[in-house]
Amino acid sequence: MAAAGPAEVVVVGSCMTDLVSLTTRLPKAGETIHGHKFFIGFGGKGANQCIQAARLGAKTLMICKVGKDSFGNDYIENFKRNGISTGQNVIVIVAGANLLLDSEDLKRAANAICKAKVIICQLEITPAISLEALKMAYSNGVKTLFNPAPAHAELDPQFYTHSDIFCCNESEAEILTGIPVGSPEDAGKVGLVLLERGCKLVIVTLGAEGCVMISVDEPIPKHVPAGKVRAVDTTGAGDSFVGALAFFMACYPNLSMEEVIRKSNFIASVSVQASGTQSSYPYRKDLPQDLF
Ligand code: ATP
Repeated sequence: MAAAGPAEVVVVGSCMTDLVSLTTRLPKAGETIHGHKFFIGFGGKGANQCIQAARLGAKTLMICKVGKDSFGNDYIENFKRNGISTGQNVIVIVAGANLLLDSEDLKRAANAICKAKVIICQLEITPAISLEALKMAYSNGVKTLFNPAPAHAELDPQFYTHSDIFCCNESEAEILTGIPVGSPEDAGKVGLVLLERGCKLVIVTLGAEGCVMISVDEPIPKHVPAGKVRAVDTTGAGDSFVGALAFFMACYPNLSMEEVIRKSNFIASVSVQASGTQSSYPYRKDLPQDLF
């Protein structure tokens, strides 16, 4: 059951149903090949991040649109099972339902957005709607966490100026700045460029290398390494990391950002040790209790 009171973490974003076939290689154009496994998984960056924050113990609300079909219904059940409240779902078509989330939906959710501790937005919904949600939250003193994924080279500059935390991975960083990122040093260079565009704090995630942070308050890049683990499936690690960031920022406001990032690295590194996306995201009860 969702806990009473305003949501601490509000996510405005996407839900996707992943239809996954495992094969030994990709088929060539026009070719049919055998897969050895097929499964359906819950995905979408917004939903993934929300699920991770909820599993760690945050009161969460997901503002999204799903199609009026079995995938959409199953997704709503998935949110309920994870204790996540959902905004009103106006339901139209399957493929583009995420793109139909609009200003009216945000207005209906304005109360929740403005009372949240942290809002998370990404770019799997219409970018203008993501920006509107960020601005609504920002002007009400809600901490904004923006994950520019999938990256657009021509990002509206207001995304930078309305991001308290701007969190991207290596490839998104390269698309946004033109600087290839292969090391913590490169990530630091990207971080400086993004700070100059108006972000308050930038995090560039680096897979097994952890991430680099840089902020207006401390404009010197800091590498926060991840622990060494045996990774079996890194799909969705970035969303686990972002969901964990939001959880720790919302529920432990006195932690330093470096500590928040260190703990989020740990959560994401747990997720890479199991297969699947949401199925690999850890629950609070299964984690070392000194994390909390
Ligand atoms: P995805 O697109 O697969 O969701 P991403 O590219 O957005 O991932 P990454 O930078 O690969 O995100 O990883 C995010 C975080 O997950 C890293 O900062 C780190 O904390 C953790 N992580 C990822 N891969 C590993 C690994 N092999 N070992 C330990 N931690 C990892």
